[in-house]
Amino acid sequence: MRAVVYEGPRQVSVKDVPDARIERPTDALVRITTTNICGSDLHMYEGRTDFEPGRWFGHENMGEVVEVGDGVDKLRVGDQVVIPFNVACGHCKNCERGLTNYCLTAQPETAFAGAAYGFADMGPWAGGQAELLRVPWADFNCLRLGEDADERASDYVMLADIFPTGYHATEMAGVQPGDQTVIYGAGPVGLMAALSATIRGAAKVMVVDRHPDRLALAESIGAIAIDDSEVDPVEAVLEQTMGLGADNGCECVGYQAHDPGGDEHPNLTMNRLVSSVRFTGRIGCVGVFVPQDPGASDELAKQGQLAFDYGMFWFKGQQLGSGQAPVKKYNRRLRDLIAEGRATPSFIVSHELPLDRAPEAYERFDAREDGWTKVVLKPGL
Ligand code: NAD
Ligand code: ZN
Repeated sequence: MRAVVYEGPRQVSVKDVPDARIERPTDALVRITTTNICGSDLHMYEGRTDFEPGRWFGHENMGEVVEVGDGVDKLRVGDQVVIPFNVACGHCKNCERGLTNYCLTAQPETAFAGAAYGFADMGPWAGGQAELLRVPWADFNCLRLGEDADERASDYVMLADIFPTGYHATEMAGVQPGDQTVIYGAGPVGLMAALSATIRGAAKVMVVDRHPDRLALAESIGAIAIDDSEVDPVEAVLEQTMGLGADNGCECVGYQAHDPGGDEHPNLTMNRLVSSVRFTGRIGCVGVFVPQDPGASDELAKQGQLAFDYGMFWFKGQQLGSGQAPVKKYNRRLRDLIAEGRATPSFIVSHELPLDRAPEAYERFDAREDGWTKVVLKPGL
C-alpha cells in the first residue's frame, strides 16, 4: 500500500510500504477514505520530536471497514467509521474512567500513558496517511457514521482529533453560556475551540493570531479577531471585557509558539492567557508541550521547562487544565451535532488532495502559507 513516509526533518515521501493487516482478533482493517495533516504532525515533520525514518504519519483518520477479526462484535465490513487519534484498550484503569487519552495498555513504554497512530513516543501504532489502517480494539475505537459519511467526510473526519480537541479545551476552561472566552491560536485547533465555545453558548469569542486568512475564518463563525502583530492582545481582550478580562481562555498554539523561523518564547501565550483571563478564570491548554524539545531556543525549554507567570496565575486564583484530548468522551455527541446540521467544522478545510501530493502539502502547511489552513488527504482520489 502507499503511505506518507517520514524520511528525516522536513522530508516526507509517498511510497510503498507493507500492507496493514489484522494482527489480533479484536482488530479491524480500515480502507482510509479521508485523513488529515495536523499541526501535531509538524512537531515530527520538523524533527523536533524523534520519529523513526521509515514510519508513517496519520492520526486523523476515517474510512470503510474492509475486514474484522474474529473477536469483533459490533463492527461490520462496509461500515463507515471515524477513528479517535487516541489508541485505547477500553478496559485499563484510565480507560475505565473515560481517560482514553492516557490508556495504559496501548502504550508499552512504562514511563508514559497515552497512545496514538503514527506518532512519536505514543506507541508502535502505524499511521493512517496510507491506504489501509489497522485499528486495534476496533469495537471500542471506531465510531460509526451514517449514510451521509461520504458526502460530509470533510466534517466527520474532524471528529478524529481537532473538533473534540477544541471542545476539550473549552471543557477544561469551563466555558458556560454567556461567557466571554479568549482563544490563543487560530490554527485548525484554535478555530475548533472557537466553534466549540460558540456551541456551548459563549456570548463573546475572541481569537488571537497574526495570519489574516486564519483570523478571517474565526470571524466567519462570529468570533472577534485580534491580530497580535497589530495590537497588544491582552489590552484588546481587556477592552472587549470592560477591563475585567475574559471568563476563560484556551491555549491552542503549543511549543511552536512562533512562526517558523520566529524567535518568540513559548511562554508568551501562557503569560498572555494569565493576563487576559479574569481572577478565578479557567484556562484549557491543548497546544502540545513535550518533556524534551531539542529545537527550543533556550536551555530550560530544551528540557521541556517553561517559565510562566505562576505568581500572577496564583494571585488571580486561576485554574489550568492540560494534555491530550480524550476524543471518545466527545465524538459521539459532536458527530450528532454535525449530522443534524448544527456544526460544520469543515469551514477550516482549505485543500482536499490525493495522497501523492502530501509532500507539497506538508511543506506549505508547515510554512503556514496563506490559505493553507487544513489539508485533507484522500487516498482514493
Ligand atoms: P498550527 O500550528 O497550524 O496553529 C497554531 C496557530 O497559532 C498558528 O496559526 C500560529 O500563527 C498561531 N500562533 C503562533 N504563535 C502565537 C501566539 N504567540 N499567539 C497567538 N497565536 C499564535 O497548529 P494546529 O493544528 O492548530 O494545532 C495547534 C496545537 O494543538 C499544536 O501544538 C498541536 O500539536 C496541538 N494539538 C493538541 C491536541 C491535543 O489533544 N491536546 C490535538 C491536536 C493538536
Ligand atoms: Zn491531530
